[in-house]
Amino acid sequence: MIVEVEHLDPVEIDELRERVEAEGGRTRLSADRRRLLALGVGPSAFDNGRPLVTREVATSHKLSAFPRGGVTRPVRWGFGVEVGGRRLAVIAGPCSVEGRSMFAETAFSVRAAGAVALRGGAFKPRTSPYAFQGLEDEALEILAETRARLCMPVVTEVLDPRQVELVAEHADVLQIGARSMQNFPLLSAVGDLGRPVLLKRGLCATIEEWLLAAEYIMARGNEDVVLCERGLRTYLNQTRNTLDIAAIPLVRSQTHLPVVVDPSHAAGRADLVGPLARAAVAAGADGLMVEVHPRPGEALSDGDQSLEPGAFRCLMRDLRPLAELRAGTVGRRDGTTSHG
Ligand code: PEP
Ligand code: MN
Repeated sequence: MIVEVEHLDPVEIDELRERVEAEGGRTRLSADRRRLLALGVGPSAFDNGRPLVTREVATSHKLSAFPRGGVTRPVRWGFGVEVGGRRLAVIAGPCSVEGRSMFAETAFSVRAAGAVALRGGAFKPRTSPYAFQGLEDEALEILAETRARLCMPVVTEVLDPRQVELVAEHADVLQIGARSMQNFPLLSAVGDLGRPVLLKRGLCATIEEWLLAAEYIMARGNEDVVLCERGLRTYLNQTRNTLDIAAIPLVRSQTHLPVVVDPSHAAGRADLVGPLARAAVAAGADGLMVEVHPRPGEALSDGDQSLEPGAFRCLMRDLRPLAELRAGTVGRRDGTTSHG
Protein backbone atom coordinates (compact mmCIF):
# COMPACT_ATOMS: atom_id res chain seq x y z
CA MET A 1 0.00 0.00 0.00
CA ILE A 2 0.96 3.62 -0.41
CA VAL A 3 0.46 6.37 2.10
CA GLU A 4 0.90 10.05 1.57
CA VAL A 5 3.46 11.44 3.97
CA GLU A 6 4.04 14.86 2.50
CA HIS A 7 3.02 16.63 5.68
CA LEU A 8 5.36 14.59 7.91
CA ASP A 9 8.79 15.76 8.97
CA PRO A 10 11.84 13.52 8.33
CA VAL A 11 11.87 12.16 11.90
CA GLU A 12 8.23 11.15 11.67
CA ILE A 13 8.84 9.50 8.30
CA ASP A 14 11.73 7.50 9.80
CA GLU A 15 9.54 6.42 12.70
CA LEU A 16 6.88 5.26 10.29
CA ARG A 17 9.37 3.27 8.24
CA GLU A 18 10.75 1.59 11.35
CA ARG A 19 7.26 0.66 12.41
CA VAL A 20 6.39 -0.89 9.05
CA GLU A 21 9.69 -2.75 8.88
CA ALA A 22 9.22 -4.04 12.43
CA GLU A 23 5.99 -5.64 11.17
CA GLY A 24 7.91 -7.41 8.41
CA GLY A 25 7.13 -4.92 5.62
CA ARG A 26 9.49 -3.21 3.17
CA THR A 27 9.36 0.50 2.57
CA ARG A 28 10.37 2.84 -0.19
CA LEU A 29 10.09 6.63 -0.01
CA SER A 30 9.33 8.43 -3.29
CA ALA A 31 12.00 10.79 -4.58
CA ASP A 32 9.84 13.82 -3.77
CA ARG A 33 9.36 12.46 -0.19
CA ARG A 34 5.60 12.72 -0.51
CA ARG A 35 4.69 9.06 -0.65
CA LEU A 36 5.73 5.97 1.20
CA LEU A 37 5.33 2.59 -0.45
CA ALA A 38 4.91 -0.16 2.11
CA LEU A 39 5.11 -3.67 0.74
CA GLY A 40 3.90 -6.71 2.64
CA VAL A 41 1.87 -5.01 5.38
CA GLY A 42 -1.74 -4.01 5.82
CA PRO A 43 -3.25 -0.83 7.24
CA SER A 44 -2.74 -2.02 10.83
CA ALA A 45 1.00 -1.42 10.43
CA PHE A 46 0.24 2.29 10.30
CA ASP A 47 -2.26 2.40 13.08
CA ASN A 48 -0.35 2.30 16.32
CA GLY A 49 -2.80 4.67 17.96
CA ARG A 50 -1.16 7.74 16.42
CA PRO A 51 -2.60 9.96 13.71
CA LEU A 52 0.54 9.97 11.62
CA VAL A 53 -0.83 8.48 8.47
CA THR A 54 -3.12 10.53 6.32
CA ARG A 55 -4.60 8.46 3.58
CA GLU A 56 -3.95 5.45 1.49
CA VAL A 57 -3.53 6.21 -2.21
CA ALA A 58 -6.24 4.46 -4.16
CA THR A 59 -4.85 4.38 -7.71
CA SER A 60 -3.44 1.11 -9.02
CA HIS A 61 -0.28 2.82 -10.23
CA LYS A 62 0.75 4.22 -6.92
CA LEU A 63 4.24 5.63 -7.25
CA SER A 64 3.72 7.07 -10.70
CA ALA A 65 0.41 8.76 -9.85
CA PHE A 66 0.39 12.50 -9.51
CA PRO A 67 1.09 13.77 -6.05
CA ARG A 68 -1.73 16.13 -5.18
CA GLY A 69 -1.45 19.33 -7.20
CA GLY A 70 1.52 17.80 -8.96
CA VAL A 71 3.11 18.43 -12.28
CA THR A 72 5.47 16.43 -14.47
CA ARG A 73 8.67 15.58 -12.65
CA PRO A 74 11.59 15.96 -15.08
CA VAL A 75 13.98 13.03 -15.39
CA ARG A 76 17.71 13.77 -15.78
CA TRP A 77 19.62 11.81 -18.39
CA GLY A 78 23.13 13.20 -17.90
CA PHE A 79 25.13 15.84 -19.81
CA GLY A 80 22.61 18.42 -18.61
CA VAL A 81 19.71 16.83 -20.49
CA GLU A 82 16.38 16.50 -18.79
CA VAL A 83 13.13 15.11 -20.14
CA GLY A 84 9.92 16.68 -18.92
CA GLY A 85 11.39 20.14 -18.39
CA ARG A 86 10.90 23.28 -20.46
CA ARG A 87 12.91 22.15 -23.44
CA LEU A 88 11.39 19.65 -25.83
CA ALA A 89 13.76 16.67 -25.69
CA VAL A 90 14.43 15.17 -29.11
CA ILE A 91 16.28 11.86 -29.20
CA ALA A 92 17.49 10.78 -32.63
CA GLY A 93 19.67 8.22 -34.31
CA PRO A 94 19.50 5.06 -36.35
CA CYS A 95 17.34 2.09 -35.53
CA SER A 96 20.50 -0.02 -35.20
CA VAL A 97 24.13 0.90 -34.75
CA GLU A 98 25.52 -0.50 -38.01
CA GLY A 99 29.12 0.59 -37.66
CA ARG A 100 31.45 3.22 -36.21
CA SER A 101 31.45 5.71 -39.05
CA MET A 102 27.72 5.54 -39.88
CA PHE A 103 26.85 6.05 -36.24
CA ALA A 104 29.24 8.99 -35.84
CA GLU A 105 27.97 10.53 -39.07
CA THR A 106 24.37 10.24 -37.88
CA ALA A 107 25.20 11.49 -34.40
CA PHE A 108 26.98 14.64 -35.64
CA SER A 109 24.13 15.44 -38.01
CA VAL A 110 21.34 15.04 -35.45
CA ARG A 111 23.27 17.03 -32.86
CA ALA A 112 23.75 19.86 -35.34
CA ALA A 113 20.01 19.81 -35.99
CA GLY A 114 19.18 20.14 -32.27
CA ALA A 115 18.75 16.60 -30.92
CA VAL A 116 19.74 16.38 -27.24
CA ALA A 117 20.24 12.61 -26.98
CA LEU A 118 21.28 9.77 -29.28
CA ARG A 119 19.56 6.49 -29.94
CA GLY A 120 20.93 3.34 -31.53
CA GLY A 121 20.10 -0.32 -31.06
CA ALA A 122 22.81 -2.79 -30.12
CA PHE A 123 20.53 -5.74 -29.32
CA LYS A 124 17.57 -5.75 -31.69
CA PRO A 125 14.26 -7.51 -30.98
CA ARG A 126 13.56 -8.75 -34.53
CA THR A 127 10.45 -10.64 -35.53
CA SER A 128 12.50 -13.04 -37.65
CA PRO A 129 15.46 -14.90 -36.19
CA TYR A 130 17.14 -14.54 -39.60
CA ALA A 131 16.96 -10.74 -39.61
CA PHE A 132 19.89 -8.56 -38.48
CA GLN A 133 20.02 -8.84 -34.70
CA GLY A 134 22.32 -5.88 -33.99
CA LEU A 135 26.09 -5.61 -33.58
CA GLU A 136 25.67 -6.36 -29.87
CA ASP A 137 28.89 -5.80 -27.86
CA GLU A 138 30.60 -3.99 -30.75
CA ALA A 139 27.64 -1.59 -30.93
CA LEU A 140 27.88 -0.93 -27.19
CA GLU A 141 31.52 0.10 -27.64
CA ILE A 142 30.55 2.43 -30.48
CA LEU A 143 27.74 3.95 -28.40
CA ALA A 144 30.09 4.59 -25.47
CA GLU A 145 32.76 6.13 -27.70
CA THR A 146 30.31 8.41 -29.48
CA ARG A 147 28.66 9.42 -26.21
CA ALA A 148 32.05 10.53 -24.85
CA ARG A 149 33.05 12.24 -28.08
CA LEU A 150 29.83 14.26 -28.44
CA CYS A 151 29.02 14.64 -24.73
CA MET A 152 25.46 13.48 -25.34
CA PRO A 153 23.43 10.88 -23.47
CA VAL A 154 22.82 7.63 -25.28
CA VAL A 155 19.66 5.50 -25.20
CA THR A 156 19.75 1.83 -26.15
CA GLU A 157 17.51 -1.16 -25.67
CA VAL A 158 18.20 -3.92 -23.19
CA LEU A 159 16.51 -7.23 -23.91
CA ASP A 160 17.71 -9.52 -21.18
CA PRO A 161 17.93 -9.06 -17.39
CA ARG A 162 21.41 -10.62 -17.51
CA GLN A 163 22.64 -7.80 -19.76
CA VAL A 164 21.35 -4.87 -17.77
CA GLU A 165 24.68 -4.06 -16.12
CA LEU A 166 26.70 -4.45 -19.30
CA VAL A 167 24.37 -2.13 -21.22
CA ALA A 168 24.41 0.40 -18.38
CA GLU A 169 28.22 0.53 -18.55
CA HIS A 170 27.93 1.87 -22.10
CA ALA A 171 24.72 3.90 -22.17
CA ASP A 172 22.96 6.51 -20.06
CA VAL A 173 19.37 5.38 -20.56
CA LEU A 174 18.07 1.83 -20.79
CA GLN A 175 15.24 1.36 -23.27
CA ILE A 176 12.62 -1.27 -22.59
CA GLY A 177 11.13 -2.11 -25.97
CA ALA A 178 7.45 -2.57 -26.75
CA ARG A 179 7.89 -6.35 -26.88
CA SER A 180 9.46 -6.35 -23.42
CA MET A 181 7.01 -4.05 -21.64
CA GLN A 182 5.65 -6.92 -19.60
CA ASN A 183 8.91 -8.77 -19.11
CA PHE A 184 8.61 -8.37 -15.36
CA PRO A 185 12.06 -9.74 -14.42
CA LEU A 186 13.58 -7.24 -16.87
CA LEU A 187 11.55 -4.37 -15.39
CA SER A 188 12.67 -5.33 -11.89
CA ALA A 189 16.29 -5.61 -13.02
CA VAL A 190 16.35 -2.08 -14.46
CA GLY A 191 14.51 -0.93 -11.35
CA ASP A 192 17.27 -2.34 -9.15
CA LEU A 193 19.98 -0.76 -11.26
CA GLY A 194 18.68 2.75 -10.71
CA ARG A 195 19.54 4.11 -14.18
CA PRO A 196 17.05 6.21 -16.19
CA VAL A 197 14.68 4.03 -18.18
CA LEU A 198 12.74 4.74 -21.39
CA LEU A 199 9.68 2.51 -21.17
CA LYS A 200 7.94 1.89 -24.47
CA ARG A 201 4.28 1.05 -24.54
CA GLY A 202 3.54 -2.57 -25.44
CA LEU A 203 2.12 -3.40 -28.86
CA CYS A 204 -1.41 -3.77 -27.48
CA ALA A 205 -1.01 -2.43 -23.95
CA THR A 206 -3.69 -0.41 -22.21
CA ILE A 207 -2.59 2.72 -20.42
CA GLU A 208 -3.10 1.00 -17.09
CA GLU A 209 -0.87 -1.93 -18.10
CA TRP A 210 1.76 0.54 -19.25
CA LEU A 211 1.67 2.51 -16.00
CA LEU A 212 1.81 -0.71 -13.99
CA ALA A 213 4.90 -1.72 -15.95
CA ALA A 214 6.43 1.61 -14.86
CA GLU A 215 5.37 0.76 -11.35
CA TYR A 216 7.46 -2.44 -11.46
CA ILE A 217 10.53 -0.29 -12.08
CA MET A 218 9.58 2.34 -9.51
CA ALA A 219 8.71 -0.18 -6.80
CA ARG A 220 12.41 -1.20 -6.86
CA GLY A 221 13.41 2.36 -6.01
CA ASN A 222 14.03 3.76 -9.49
CA GLU A 223 11.74 6.67 -10.26
CA ASP A 224 13.62 7.89 -13.32
CA VAL A 225 11.18 6.47 -15.83
CA VAL A 226 10.16 8.19 -19.07
CA LEU A 227 7.18 6.72 -20.95
CA CYS A 228 7.28 6.32 -24.73
CA GLU A 229 4.16 6.01 -26.88
CA ARG A 230 5.10 4.24 -30.13
CA GLY A 231 1.79 3.30 -31.67
CA LEU A 232 -0.48 0.32 -31.15
CA ARG A 233 -1.22 -2.65 -33.34
CA THR A 234 -4.65 -2.20 -34.93
CA TYR A 235 -6.47 -3.45 -38.03
CA LEU A 236 -5.27 -0.41 -39.99
CA ASN A 237 -2.67 -1.53 -42.50
CA GLN A 238 -1.37 1.57 -44.23
CA THR A 239 0.75 2.43 -41.24
CA ARG A 240 2.91 0.04 -39.22
CA ASN A 241 1.05 0.93 -36.01
CA THR A 242 -1.62 3.43 -34.99
CA LEU A 243 -0.31 6.36 -32.95
CA ASP A 244 -2.51 6.83 -29.90
CA ILE A 245 -2.50 10.62 -29.66
CA ALA A 246 -5.06 10.60 -26.85
CA ALA A 247 -2.62 8.60 -24.72
CA ILE A 248 -0.45 11.71 -24.37
CA PRO A 249 -2.94 13.94 -22.49
CA LEU A 250 -4.31 10.86 -20.73
CA VAL A 251 -1.01 9.83 -19.18
CA ARG A 252 -0.16 13.46 -18.45
CA SER A 253 -3.31 13.67 -16.36
CA GLN A 254 -2.57 10.43 -14.50
CA THR A 255 1.14 10.47 -13.78
CA HIS A 256 4.07 12.73 -13.09
CA LEU A 257 6.25 10.67 -15.45
CA PRO A 258 7.33 12.48 -18.63
CA VAL A 259 6.01 11.08 -21.92
CA VAL A 260 7.81 11.06 -25.25
CA VAL A 261 6.52 9.86 -28.60
CA ASP A 262 8.22 7.70 -31.22
CA PRO A 263 6.55 8.66 -34.51
CA SER A 264 8.93 6.43 -36.51
CA HIS A 265 7.70 3.07 -35.21
CA ALA A 266 4.12 4.38 -35.14
CA ALA A 267 4.16 5.36 -38.82
CA GLY A 268 6.52 2.79 -40.28
CA ARG A 269 7.05 5.20 -43.20
CA ALA A 270 9.23 8.27 -43.36
CA ASP A 271 6.67 10.55 -45.03
CA LEU A 272 4.36 10.42 -41.98
CA VAL A 273 7.02 10.93 -39.32
CA GLY A 274 6.93 14.75 -39.49
CA PRO A 275 3.13 15.17 -39.22
CA LEU A 276 2.92 12.64 -36.38
CA ALA A 277 5.83 14.28 -34.57
CA ARG A 278 4.15 17.69 -34.79
CA ALA A 279 0.83 16.27 -33.64
CA ALA A 280 2.52 14.63 -30.66
CA VAL A 281 4.13 17.86 -29.50
CA ALA A 282 0.86 19.75 -29.99
CA ALA A 283 -0.85 17.13 -27.81
CA GLY A 284 1.63 17.69 -24.98
CA ALA A 285 4.54 15.28 -25.49
CA ASP A 286 7.69 16.11 -23.52
CA GLY A 287 9.91 14.79 -26.28
CA LEU A 288 10.26 12.71 -29.42
CA MET A 289 12.36 9.75 -30.44
CA VAL A 290 13.06 9.76 -34.18
CA GLU A 291 14.95 7.28 -36.34
CA VAL A 292 17.49 8.91 -38.64
CA HIS A 293 19.83 7.14 -41.05
CA PRO A 294 22.39 8.74 -43.38
CA ARG A 295 21.25 6.42 -46.23
CA PRO A 296 17.87 4.92 -45.31
CA GLY A 297 17.87 2.76 -48.46
CA GLU A 298 20.86 0.85 -47.08
CA ALA A 299 19.64 0.50 -43.48
CA LEU A 300 19.87 -2.96 -41.92
CA SER A 301 16.64 -2.32 -39.99
CA ASP A 302 13.71 0.09 -40.30
CA GLY A 303 15.00 1.97 -43.36
CA ASP A 304 11.44 2.72 -44.58
CA GLN A 305 10.67 4.80 -41.51
CA SER A 306 14.07 6.46 -41.12
CA LEU A 307 14.54 10.12 -41.99
CA GLU A 308 17.53 11.33 -43.94
CA PRO A 309 19.56 13.93 -42.03
CA GLY A 310 18.17 16.73 -44.22
CA ALA A 311 14.57 15.73 -43.52
CA PHE A 312 15.36 15.55 -39.81
CA ARG A 313 16.77 19.09 -39.96
CA CYS A 314 13.54 20.29 -41.58
CA LEU A 315 11.48 18.52 -38.94
CA MET A 316 13.44 20.21 -36.17
CA ARG A 317 12.85 23.59 -37.82
CA ASP A 318 9.12 22.90 -38.15
CA LEU A 319 8.92 21.88 -34.51
CA ARG A 320 10.37 25.14 -33.23
CA PRO A 321 7.12 27.12 -32.84
CA LEU A 322 5.40 24.13 -31.23
CA ALA A 323 8.29 23.64 -28.84
CA GLU A 324 8.03 27.30 -27.84
CA LEU A 325 4.31 27.02 -27.29
CA ARG A 326 4.88 23.92 -25.18
CA ALA A 327 7.54 25.67 -23.09
CA GLY A 328 4.90 28.19 -22.07
CA THR A 329 2.62 25.46 -20.73
CA VAL A 330 5.18 23.44 -18.75
CA GLY A 331 4.11 23.13 -15.15
CA ARG A 332 0.44 22.99 -15.98
CA ARG A 333 -1.09 19.69 -15.20
CA ASP A 334 -3.32 19.38 -18.24
CA GLY A 335 -0.91 20.96 -20.69
CA THR A 336 -3.51 23.45 -21.88
CA THR A 337 -2.52 26.72 -23.44
CA SER A 338 -4.15 30.00 -22.53
CA HIS A 339 -6.45 29.43 -25.48
CA GLY A 340 -7.72 26.26 -23.85
C1 PEP B 1 13.24 0.52 -31.46
O1 PEP B 1 13.11 1.58 -30.83
O2 PEP B 1 14.15 0.32 -32.27
C2 PEP B 1 12.21 -0.54 -31.29
C3 PEP B 1 12.47 -1.81 -31.57
O3 PEP B 1 11.03 -0.05 -30.88
P1 PEP B 1 9.69 -0.80 -30.35
O4 PEP B 1 10.13 -1.60 -29.15
O5 PEP B 1 8.80 0.34 -30.04
O6 PEP B 1 9.20 -1.65 -31.48
MN1 MN C 1 13.55 0.60 -35.22
